[in-house]
Amino acid sequence: MHSLIVSPFLGRHLLLRPGDVSGVRISEHRYNALRTVVAEHGPPPAWLREAADRMWQMPLPDVGLDRTLLVREPSTYGFAKASWEINLGCDYDCEFCYLGEKKFAGLPWDGKARLLEMLRDAGVLWLQITGGEALIDRDFPAAYEYAHQLGMMVQVSTNGSRLHTRPILELFGRLRPYRLTISVYGASPETYEAVTRNRGSFARFTRGLAAARDAGLPVRLNVVVSDRNAHEVDRMRALADSYGFPHHVFSNISPTIDGAANPLAAQSREYLKARWPFNGCNAGHTFFHVNPHGIASICKVGRDPHVKLMTEGIEALPRLGRIAESLQLRVGGCSGCTLSGSCWTCRPLAKLYQDAKADRERYCQHGGTKPHDPTHDSTPAGAGPADHRPTPAH
Ligand code: SF4
Ligand code: SF4
Repeated sequence: MHSLIVSPFLGRHLLLRPGDVSGVRISEHRYNALRTVVAEHGPPPAWLREAADRMWQMPLPDVGLDRTLLVREPSTYGFAKASWEINLGCDYDCEFCYLGEKKFAGLPWDGKARLLEMLRDAGVLWLQITGGEALIDRDFPAAYEYAHQLGMMVQVSTNGSRLHTRPILELFGRLRPYRLTISVYGASPETYEAVTRNRGSFARFTRGLAAARDAGLPVRLNVVVSDRNAHEVDRMRALADSYGFPHHVFSNISPTIDGAANPLAAQSREYLKARWPFNGCNAGHTFFHVNPHGIASICKVGRDPHVKLMTEGIEALPRLGRIAESLQLRVGGCSGCTLSGSCWTCRPLAKLYQDAKADRERYCQHGGTKPHDPTHDSTPAGAGPADHRPTPAH
């Protein structure tokens, strides 16, 4: 497997190392030079040696680069990031889960492989694999490895229930994710298992955290707050600190992806945060989301209209840009609000809450003095897709 990737990225060109968020911006001229070097089995240029050594203390071979460096070809589709729910099935049963029914279903292996090739051809460089619980999908290891092989930088979001197992640790040790995002549902067995409704889950979770720390995996924890664990927020933060992992607190519960309101009952009123003002977003233009059946949407929130990648093919993907524009123009559901004429709240987000008949305070992003809203988390510049989950889940 290659240990460096060179790729176009939103009009620029990057040199990256799989499993590491840091990268080097290079000129188009150097990108093209590397394409030639790899095609002709030439030796690494001096500047590449210097960059690999400076960034990653990585020595390069004296001869052909073709085994070391993977060149991502330019894509006409213009996407850079995507998220993929490999399967919505989960071994936990959190009452605030935004996935609703969580059916254990997805594409067969050949469909998953074809989908990953389409993501590569669409230009996706940063891929988040999520679920449901991604690690319980039978094809997860093969899909994760294939995404690496195709030259994508891979982030995995998980509840951590399988992280302690030898096959998963071996896989992540051999092919590092650039980020491993793990949800935290409590700081004690009683609270954690009251949330997950899965006996023994806290012990498996903490074993996984210890194993990930010992393996030096790039973990980031999402502390998910509901009325059932709000009394342990400080202890959950302390737990993250005790493992040396950075963490974010997610505390706004959202409706299910079908607009059902039931998860909202698990909201901790004390931790309901006002949202950041909406400043526009590139959903459907530079990033998109794919569900377990290969259905692509602008993001995890705005799931309709959508594009059926497995039957319509990659050629249908540019429709997402037009879908995103039309979704943001829909301003229904805010009648009676004096600000609705000039509103810049994200419309797909507003519609999800409106369908669930939620209070406006849960979704309005019109501005004012707003504390940070961690439910709309974003990754560092140049890293993976904005983690716009509609609710705190892993
Ligand atoms: S929900 Fe988030 S990602 Fe989706 S369109 Fe709104 S701001 Fe963009
Ligand atoms: S929130 Fe995450 S861990 Fe909990 S049931 Fe949903 S997908 Fe599973």
